[in-house]
Amino acid sequence: MPIAAVHHPGYTIDLPASHPFPMAKFRVLRDQLGTWGDAITWNRPSRATRAQLERVHTPAYLDALIGGHLDRAAQRRSGFPWSQALVERVRLETGGTVLTARLALEQGLALNAAGGTHHAHADSASGYCLLNDLAVTARTLLATGEVRRLLIIDLDVHQGDGTARLLADEPAAMTFSMHVARNFPARKAHSDWDVPLASGLDDTAYLETLADVLPRLIDQCAPDLVIYDAGVDVHQADRLGHCGLSDAGLYERDRRVIEAVRSQGIPLAGVIGGGYDRDLDALCRRHAQLFRAALHLQRRPNDT
Ligand SMILES: [Zn+2]
Repeated sequence: MPIAAVHHPGYTIDLPASHPFPMAKFRVLRDQLGTWGDAITWNRPSRATRAQLERVHTPAYLDALIGGHLDRAAQRRSGFPWSQALVERVRLETGGTVLTARLALEQGLALNAAGGTHHAHADSASGYCLLNDLAVTARTLLATGEVRRLLIIDLDVHQGDGTARLLADEPAAMTFSMHVARNFPARKAHSDWDVPLASGLDDTAYLETLADVLPRLIDQCAPDLVIYDAGVDVHQADRLGHCGLSDAGLYERDRRVIEAVRSQGIPLAGVIGGGYDRDLDALCRRHAQLFRAALHLQRRPNDT
């Protein structure tokens, strides 16, 4: 069975060549995955609606963002110069995660080849995140009754501070973040469950910690859906990570999460999260491991 994946050409926009964010990674990842042929079924999202966004973001912030009135300080916090294409990009990416969650509910597993903008707050952007796709998706699916309870497993190397704050008063959405403690954001939020890590953990120490919490987390929450942020900035070569995972460790992390969730019959919607290597091919090969792990587990029942 092919993997359901979500992508839109609008995920990548033009930025100045000197800009530190690896914007082309969404296009390069799509190109890499395009060589897998019919192993992946591609779906194109529409932009998140204003009503969906207002479930987590303030009308004043959305007016400023969509209308192009973010002041210079707000643009600096976002990490990007404002443009109409940027607004379109983040709305498509957020719509992409909503679509991914719906495909996961239908098919068991789906992956957005973008997403994981977990630093965005109700009224402000932060750390390359303008809209919080995870919180918008959670609130949308709960509001429509598509799920009664969901769990966000955030393994990006940075804490999911925006998601934690946006869903703090929502008992039907459980937030879990495992992240390097001495890293952005300086001021942490309280997820429902946080696991702060020491800097520079290797594969063994990281995977042991994950193995210890993962089954308890899933048991405790008993969700109808897991949204998994598979940020690859835990990789030892990442510019912003301060963590020590190898390619093999990263693959094993994704495999274990997908297996732990799917073996319970729980749908999983994955997003690729952060990753900041200047070598785009290497970076996208790391993001592609999420798709490889998913494909391996989808095929396994027929392997024997
Ligand atoms: Zn990150």
